[in-house]
Order: sequence, then structure tokens, then C-alpha cells
Amino acid sequence: MAKTYDLIIVGAGPAGLMAAKAAGESGLSVALLERKQSITDINRSCATMFAIEDDYYFGERMFFSEEQRRLVFPVTGFTVPYDGPYRNFYAWHLYTSDNKHCIKLGSYEANQQKGPKGRLSVTYSKHHLLTSLLADAGKAGVTVLTGANVTALLRGSETSRIRTAEGLKLEAPYIIAADGINSRIVQQLGLNRGRRFYGTLQGISYYMTGLNLPHPEAINYPMLFHKKSGYPVMVWIEPSPYEEEEFWVYCGGPSHPELNYKDELDRLIMDSPFSSWFPRPVIRRTQAHVANIWAPVAAPVMGNVLIAGDAGWTVEAECTGSMMCGLKAAGAVTEALRNGKRGPEAVGSYSAWWNRHFSEAQDYKEFLLLLSSALVGQETSLYLNKLVTETLPCSLNPYHLLKAINSVIMDKLGQIQKERPDIVQTLQAVSNLSLEEQMKPLVGTGFPNR
Ligand SMILES: Cc1cc2nc3c(=O)[nH]c(=O)nc-3n(C[C@H](O)[C@H](O)[C@H](O)COP(=O)(O)OP(=O)(O)OC[C@H]3O[C@@H](n4cnc5c(N)ncnc54)[C@H](O)[C@@H]3O)c2cc1C
Repeated sequence: MAKTYDLIIVGAGPAGLMAAKAAGESGLSVALLERKQSITDINRSCATMFAIEDDYYFGERMFFSEEQRRLVFPVTGFTVPYDGPYRNFYAWHLYTSDNKHCIKLGSYEANQQKGPKGRLSVTYSKHHLLTSLLADAGKAGVTVLTGANVTALLRGSETSRIRTAEGLKLEAPYIIAADGINSRIVQQLGLNRGRRFYGTLQGISYYMTGLNLPHPEAINYPMLFHKKSGYPVMVWIEPSPYEEEEFWVYCGGPSHPELNYKDELDRLIMDSPFSSWFPRPVIRRTQAHVANIWAPVAAPVMGNVLIAGDAGWTVEAECTGSMMCGLKAAGAVTEALRNGKRGPEAVGSYSAWWNRHFSEAQDYKEFLLLLSSALVGQETSLYLNKLVTETLPCSLNPYHLLKAINSVIMDKLGQIQKERPDIVQTLQAVSNLSLEEQMKPLVGTGFPNR
């Protein structure tokens, strides 16, 4: 016999935990299933910035209140306790691959002088955030099942059943799929077949000490290129929230059979124009990730299954966007059950909210252009980026980030035409391509879970 609940939530990341807390606090009987043994051990790479403090993101203007020790979501109208460590950062610096030029987004010194008021955002501990959400879910009576790997979802008109690899069977009128970027539930529902696939991202990160950075309280973004494939290699170095001398160093990008991001990260540290930033490198902890880049799901509800967080989005809903999804999905289920209703119409408030903030209208394609723009190659990228000499306003919003840099480059088209007419031709050729055509090489080396 399957055990019955009002709501089953698959996945205990930010989306699932927030959904569990909210539904439990509303009086529903909730089962939260997580395949990891420990929910709060974080093995997956995450930059853990409170994104996005400096801009609207998914319709929200979220910020961290250090006085209240809470994440505040003023538009959606909720707060989340956060009592963990954090570090302010003040600018975003993009370094050309020869480490001879830096594009400055945000004025580091001026912002730093203002203290917390001048920061772009903070880095935080995901472990502490999840610990706090889990504690609240526990207080609200949620049944938390860890080491529970959901392998099957059997949909029925009144209730759906969940099975795990360990032999658990559970049943509920509503399911929230919060199982992350490579969601098995979304795949099983057949939804990936209708989504455009843009490639696979991979990455590895170290928490490290022994660095000597020109601007330690900034996001440092050296642009590297893989020698053999010419693929762009994204590098990200930021202050760790845990200790002042510790940094989070990430290296990743599109998957390619000849590209090993651990080798690239080690090359950055040992044998690159940036090696002087690592005089006494000590690796303390390692994390990694693999993420398929799909277009968003066409709709966030299928029958009595609600899709929340990364599971239905493209690349990252971020922890903040995922928590908003969890809250809204739980609210819609609570409303439906209070009304004694079943089915997708009864949770229409979630679809309406998601469609407003998470649909194609939110231009995720700008983010993908971030990936594909570097495909113009190292030499062209080096030339173009060196044209950007002014300090630009910074946005952590990945959908707005590139625009400021690109508009400076476009303003200098006359100069480029005189100096490098070949590059103008390349840019014209690239701009004539659709996003799909631009992403084609990445799609070819990805491995979609259709
Ligand atoms: C390199 C990188 C940098 C990032 N930087 C930031 C950042 O700075 N700020 C930010 O806010 N976000 C960042 N993110 C994104 C952030 O990590 C995600 O958006 C967020 O964790 C998504 O939350 P989620 O709850 O939807 O999914 P997840 O956090 O992925 O949680 C899904 C959970 O479901 C579980 N699960 C999966 N399958 C099953 C199954 N079959 N059965 C049971 N359980 C299952 C998983 O173990 C996991 O615990 C970053 C991500 C990456 C890869």
C-alpha cells in the first residue's frame, strides 16, 4: 500500500525545501523526498551569490537585510531567515585572456568605501540557507525522507504515485517536481521532447586559500580559451563566505570531448597569465556540476504535477528564483485542496505567476548569448574587449550583463572598421545567425536527457 499525503515534493534544494516549509506551515501533510543522504551537504558547484540584489529578477527585487538576518522578497511578499556567514563584494572584473586588460563593471574602490551600502551583493553559505529551511520544514511537520531516489512517477486523474529506487511507494493528489536542472520527473513527463536543447555545461570548483588577487572583494572573471578546441572557458573567482583568506574558484563551460575542466582549472592556477594570483595554492574542498541547457518548459503544470525551480527553467533559476517557485507552487496546492479541487486549473495561480515571470518573456536567450559570444575566438575576443576602457555600471542579472559591454563595442564600430575590417565582417556574420545557429557547436557536443 502506498502511503498517502496531501503533497509529495521531489528534491530538497531551495525550491523543494521552500515548498515543503510553506505547505507544511499551511497545514498540509507533506512528504519531501531527497536522494542525497544529507540535504545540507552541498556537493554541486554554486557561486552562492544572492542573485540578484541589484536589479529586478523574475519580477522580484530581493535583498539581504543584515539587520534582520533575512532574505527579503518585497514584491512576492515573504522573507527567509539566513543566519549564516556572508561576504560583501563590490565589482565585477573581466580580465582578457592575456591578463593585460580588465573590463570593470562597477567601481571597486568607490563602492568599497561605502561599505555594505556600496556592495553589489554578498556571497553566502548554501549549507546554512538549506539548514534553516529544513529546520522550518521540520517544525511544520513535514515528513523528510533522505536517501530516497525517485525513479518513477505514475500519474492518475485523482492522485499520482511516486516510487523510489529503495522501494518506497507514496501517493498524493499533487506532486511538486523540484528535482533540479536535469530533472528526471520532467524527462519522464515527456516534456524535454518539446524543449529546444542548447548544449551541456560542465564545471568544477575549488574552495582555496593562498591567493593574491588585485581586487579580492570582487567577482574576478578571467577569460580563458581551451587550446585545442578554441572553446571559451569560464573562470570565476569570488570571496568565500566562510573565511577571509578563502576564495571560491570555478572553471566551466560547454562540454566538449577534448575539454577537461579540471585540467583547465589546474592550468589557470599553475600555468597561465593568471598564475601569479595563486602564489601558495591550497585546495580545501572540491565541487562539480553537469547541467543540460534546455529552453524553459512550455507550461509549469502538467496534470497534477507542478514543476518548480531549475527543473523547469533554463540553466539556473538561482536559489532565490527557486525559492519563489517553491512558495508559489505550495500556495497554489494549498488553495486547490482548500477548495476541494483537483487538476491543473485548480493550481492556475501558479501557472499564471510562472508565465508572467519565468516564461520565454524573461529573455533567457541573452544569457545563452553570453556563452556563444566568446565563440568568435580568442584573438577577436581579445581585440574587442580591449576596446572597453571605461568603468561600466554593473548588473548581476545575467540577462542584462552583456548589454553594457556590447553597446560600448558597437559604439566603436567605426574604429573597428578602420583597424580590423575582418572583425567587422565576423561580427556581421555572427549577428546574422539565429541563436540556434550560434549554439550549434555546443548542441553537437552536449548529451540531452530527452
Ligand atoms: C556553477 C553554478 C553557479 C551558480 N551560482 C549561483 C549563485 O551565485 N546564486 C544562486 O542563487 N544560484 C546559483 N546557481 C544556481 C543554483 O544552484 C540553482 O539555481 C538552485 O540550486 C536551484 O534550486 P532547485 O531547488 O531548483 O534545484 P537543486 O538545488 O538542484 O535541488 C534539486 C534537489 O533534487 C534532488 N534530486 C534530484 N533528482 C532526484 C530524484 N530523482 N529523487 C530525489 N531527489 C532528487 C537533488 O539531489 C537536489 O538536492 C549556480 C549554479 C551553478 C551550476
